[in-house]
Amino acid sequence: MSITPASPERKRILTGDRPTGRLHLGHYVGSLKSRVELQNSYDTTLIVADLHMLTTKPDRGDIEAIADNARGLVLDYLAAGIDPGKTTIYLQSAVRETYELNLVLEMLVTVNRLTRVPSIKDMARAANLSDEEMPFGLLGYPVLQAADILLPRAHLVPVGKDNESHVEVSREVARRFNHLYGEVFPLPDALVGEIPTLLGTDGQGKMSKSLGNCIYLQDDQATVNRKVSSMYTDPKRVHADIPGTVEGNPVFQYHDAFNPDKSEVEDFKKRYREGKIGDVEVKQSLARAINAFLEPLRERYQSYASDTGFVDQVLQEGTERMRVVAGATMREVWKAMGMAGVHNRISRAAEKRQKRQGGKD
Ligand code: ATP
Ligand code: MG
Repeated sequence: MSITPASPERKRILTGDRPTGRLHLGHYVGSLKSRVELQNSYDTTLIVADLHMLTTKPDRGDIEAIADNARGLVLDYLAAGIDPGKTTIYLQSAVRETYELNLVLEMLVTVNRLTRVPSIKDMARAANLSDEEMPFGLLGYPVLQAADILLPRAHLVPVGKDNESHVEVSREVARRFNHLYGEVFPLPDALVGEIPTLLGTDGQGKMSKSLGNCIYLQDDQATVNRKVSSMYTDPKRVHADIPGTVEGNPVFQYHDAFNPDKSEVEDFKKRYREGKIGDVEVKQSLARAINAFLEPLRERYQSYASDTGFVDQVLQEGTERMRVVAGATMREVWKAMGMAGVHNRISRAAEKRQKRQGGKD
């Protein structure tokens, strides 16, 4: 396999996922779909964000699972149509400049600002952490994300709605850095998918691993059929002739997202509102649509899964490529801040002294 280096003059994308398990339809509509579409026109980098995982999952067992979960993520990306010849995929913890830039950016945002980021509290709640148990690192989640986004000097960040407020923090710290030290970073924009938040199959909130309401990209046909047939729908409709509600109904949100036959979807909505169609018919058609959408992903997954060496190579080569990019950015950062000058003065003075002393010996 040969991977051509990304071209420097195109605009750049940075986005990614935590290696905590498999990707689901929510990840796809929120971010993955845009990545697949835009990888041809943007220089695209995908981060396997294992340091972000540590903010809520720091246990040994979680860490031991990173390697397998990272491979699973890369497989899900490739299955969804990410082309490793065009897109860089890297492991966050293996790029040391991440830690450096994170620390620099920590100085440019207030604790007060971070406590107002809505998703931080949501994440703490999902991890069963009380206010007193909030880790410093979880509060800093959006700052670490800013470091990820700014290291490749990304312009665009495809994310789901819940992540939009983090990109806003990235913009603010980039603006503050540029104001203090000079223009180093473009101000990144969030790109939220056409469906900003995909509901879970339980209809109670967003589709999320921790809530057990997901359809995974690698679920087989029978699993999809089972999950769709037991999906939450309008609870008022105990009979098919009772008029139903389409808005906020996950069955119809999924139809909008995955059924390419728009006239069928409109017909279902109309008849559903009039109480002229049963849930079973709407759900059976939805299961067919989702299975048809997933079938090529399943096939590509199988073709890559048989060669795990390839997956490791994609991640390794992407990480090496990212190290080069990150190193170049950090040199600019230290230079802009004047820190490079401090280092140079000290090392030059030490060198001079050594020479003088050498002369005396
Ligand atoms: P989960 O939310 O299932 O626990 P996660 O929190 O580990 O997954 P993240 O790494 O936070 O996943 O999210 C990866 C990307 O997918 C983010 O851009 C996020 O906004 C997006 N995303 C996750 N779930 C959804 C959803 N239900 N609808 C739309 N986008 C989503
Ligand atoms: Mg999330």
